[in-house]
Amino acid sequence: MAERAAKQLELNKSELPNSITEVIATLTRAGFDAYIVGGGVRDTLLGLRPKDFDAVTDAKPHEIKDVFGKRCRIIGRRFQLAHVYSGRELIEVATFRGPPTNDANTNQDGMILRDNVWGDIQQDFSRRDFSINALYYQPLKGIVHDFCGALDDIDNRIIRLLGNAPVRIEEDPVRLLRALRFKAKLGFEFDEALSAQFNDGNWALLEQISPHRLYDETQKMFTGGYLVPLLPLLFESGAIDSLIIYPPSEPSALVNQVAINTDKRIAAGKSINPAFFYAALLWENYLHQLAKAKKRNMPFAEAQMHAAGKVIDRQRIKTAIPKFAEQFIRDIWILQPKLAAPRSKQIVQLSEHPRFRAGFDFLLLREQCGDAEHPLSESTNDMGDWWQTYQTLSEQEQQQAIDEFDENIRRGAYKKGQRGRGRNRQESKTQTTDNATPNQNSTKQNKADDRAEKGRNDQTMVNDSSNIPARRRRAASQSKAGRTDGGRHNVQQVEQDNNELAQLQQLSLANKKTIGKPASKA
Ligand code: ATP
Ligand code: MG
Repeated sequence: MAERAAKQLELNKSELPNSITEVIATLTRAGFDAYIVGGGVRDTLLGLRPKDFDAVTDAKPHEIKDVFGKRCRIIGRRFQLAHVYSGRELIEVATFRGPPTNDANTNQDGMILRDNVWGDIQQDFSRRDFSINALYYQPLKGIVHDFCGALDDIDNRIIRLLGNAPVRIEEDPVRLLRALRFKAKLGFEFDEALSAQFNDGNWALLEQISPHRLYDETQKMFTGGYLVPLLPLLFESGAIDSLIIYPPSEPSALVNQVAINTDKRIAAGKSINPAFFYAALLWENYLHQLAKAKKRNMPFAEAQMHAAGKVIDRQRIKTAIPKFAEQFIRDIWILQPKLAAPRSKQIVQLSEHPRFRAGFDFLLLREQCGDAEHPLSESTNDMGDWWQTYQTLSEQEQQQAIDEFDENIRRGAYKKGQRGRGRNRQESKTQTTDNATPNQNSTKQNKADDRAEKGRNDQTMVNDSSNIPARRRRAASQSKAGRTDGGRHNVQQVEQDNNELAQLQQLSLANKKTIGKPASKA
């Protein structure tokens, strides 16, 4: 065992939050051993801001309760620990764990069902998951205990399971998910023994983990601020199959876009709802179910509810999405066509919807990544821009914008069929010629509406084959029909033309983005 001076490691008591120092000091005064352990030590050593500080002590849960009284609550069955409030902060205080003593604590696969056997600090360190999470820092005494070369692993940026790797995964397969999370967060590499644990057999063990625990784990993953590096790891490792129903082979453009946005929001200290990421992850599933329900001629609103319910019910088998999160996800999805093609009478009501902001953000993100191009997706009509502007207006200006919205509809600027809810890309394609006439009578005041309309026209132009030179158009339609043009166009030529066509479409999409700047206040 190595005992190091905290000072040598540049750990300074004064840099810790008062809450954790107070909890350690109170336990020490009461005659117990107490340390900071886990991410609080690891991240401070790495110069990162720890998400939280966890404490560990030789005091048993009821003794911790005696020390802190009303500000302590004992929680957990599988892993009992104390929640201690210090000011407004909540500190998790665990009791040193020892090895499981009898079969009642594990199942026949060696999985730990209950981990409530008390032990000493030496036993406790070997029960922790990774070496980098097993440093014990006593800030009042200014010492750090390193029982397992954890400091070297931090220096070498290595994630290493403590003990026998396969046994530690059998005990608790959630450690695989934790390993991916720490890899993404810290940019460390797995050692060989840990790398070897990412196999189908071990992923199958996750099926025995309760959906509640897996939901908690996904929450930690989605709200850590490192979703962008984590996403490819979840897909490449196969973890995603344990977490999401019918996952695609790689993250969709929307999922990537939402990941970028989520990390940015967290870095800027903005609030995020982890269910928002679920809404993106399950969006394609929802669209698929919605298309099926529509085919069965269900009324649209009913089809939406049916599809959302089906997707979330199935997902619950993997991760237990709580009721409030379910409502949030459902509202985001159901708001999409309403925001994309609002009726003017609904605009105020929509903007006051408790989930308006989330639904609007989702709409914008869909626009940013070209989600409307997805075969099952519906056009956003570039309404993200309209709503963005709308929110910047005074009450009076908002009313004016609504009146002008009505006026535009009366003048036929938004063609009837175009505003129908549930309109999909196919329909928008067929309406291209109808919509191709720009709104010529526009005045300064209806700038926002014009912009939305212009966006609609731009959108339709992307899909409008009349923008494509004739030779390419022919090639495209021929390739769709699966034939070549009597030798004049060989397969290669058609392929090349198709590539050009795709590039052209992308260019039009890129142009579209420059149109989407918010309008200045009218
Ligand atoms: P962060 O809080 O930044 O996500 P952390 O390392 O503090 O990371 P927590 O989930 O807060 O992670 O857990 C605190 C500590 O408890 C860990 O550092 C680790 O020592 C131990 N621990 C947590 N979960 C497990 C587990 N499944 N198996 C073994 N030890 C664990
Ligand atoms: Mg922690």
